[in-house]
Amino acid sequence: MDRIILHSDCNNFFASVECVSKPEYKNVPLAVSGDREARHGIILAKNEIAKSYGVKTAEPIWQAKQKCPNLVTVPPHHELYEEYSEKINKIYVDYTDQVEKFSVDESWLYVTGSTKLFGDGKTIADTIRERVKRELGISVSIGVSFNKVFAKLGSDYKKPDATTVISRENYKDILYPMPVSAMIFAGRKTCEALLKCNIKTIGDLANADSGLLAKKLGKQAEMLVRYARGEDDEPVGHFYDKREIKSIGKGMTFSRNLLGRDDIAKGVMTLSDNIAHQMREKNIKCNTVTVHIKDTDLKTIARQKTLESPTYLTKDIYKVAMEIIEENWKSDEPIRMITVTGSNFQDAEFGGQVNLFDLDFNDEKREKLELAIDKLRDRYGKGSITSANVINNDIGIDYE
Ligand SMILES: [Mg+2]
Repeated sequence: MDRIILHSDCNNFFASVECVSKPEYKNVPLAVSGDREARHGIILAKNEIAKSYGVKTAEPIWQAKQKCPNLVTVPPHHELYEEYSEKINKIYVDYTDQVEKFSVDESWLYVTGSTKLFGDGKTIADTIRERVKRELGISVSIGVSFNKVFAKLGSDYKKPDATTVISRENYKDILYPMPVSAMIFAGRKTCEALLKCNIKTIGDLANADSGLLAKKLGKQAEMLVRYARGEDDEPVGHFYDKREIKSIGKGMTFSRNLLGRDDIAKGVMTLSDNIAHQMREKNIKCNTVTVHIKDTDLKTIARQKTLESPTYLTKDIYKVAMEIIEENWKSDEPIRMITVTGSNFQDAEFGGQVNLFDLDFNDEKREKLELAIDKLRDRYGKGSITSANVINNDIGIDYE
């Protein structure tokens, strides 16, 4: 028997949560936007009213306001979204314990064994949609299919508040005319490269020679072809698997106080490398990075940042941790201890939200590199590979 998998995606999630938690936002065009001060202040989510003005996710705030002068913009409240996410996933768990969170507002549900109790896949999807709407005021779109990728494409197919069944009988009719950019993990650069190979639709992708494509575009292309053909047998994870780990952190009291950016960079690189390695071992990516800084009076400050997309790469964690420190610490003030912590984890299998923030080939290469480094370290010891700037340091970083 075929598997039955749902992919449930909350519609306009951030904006929906803002609107249900604050009634005054209910009937106004509203968008959740990134840091307005920052250069890249962009729209992260918008409600249906804002959408009707043509406001788009990922466009700059100024551009959105040109289309919709009355647009209310609010900063993201990630903790609130996590709370709602938790409540929504708890509803899912009533129908199966195999719930795998893909991101704060998307989950896969493996319901093959649940049909005797709750009806077929579509019935379960409709029941869940009704419940989430009634109990939390949030609408969801759900795809029902025999694999995870098609279930995900199904949830994207019709929004808001809809169930789409992608079956063995209809998948070619529904999915194959869709542009290749609709395929999960086909980021902007990947799509550009595919277009150059005359692959415009998901159907073209399914019919492509995957060996040839892999030669041109790398291994990722092979995976995309398999996905387009419906050959995805990835299992749905269990709800509680990754959730037990709340955070992974590493702190270090240095052999002398750190002073200046170069010193700090060495320390932060080592700590980032340590926690990123642990995350890769566990195959999880963090969405939040926290830095604790202890000064010479042993006073500690803690600051955190939510990432634009989840990561387990050293360079990403390093970059954010350095940003946090640069924004919150004068580099001429001595530092006694730094701790870098990753939290707010998700399964790494599917790479996270790639629709907004492209998984480009550079990232793919970087990921391969860091995974290769892990293997070498497993074999030859941690000291076998170290950042150039950390070798021969005098701040007490010691690789055994
Ligand atoms: Mg969504």
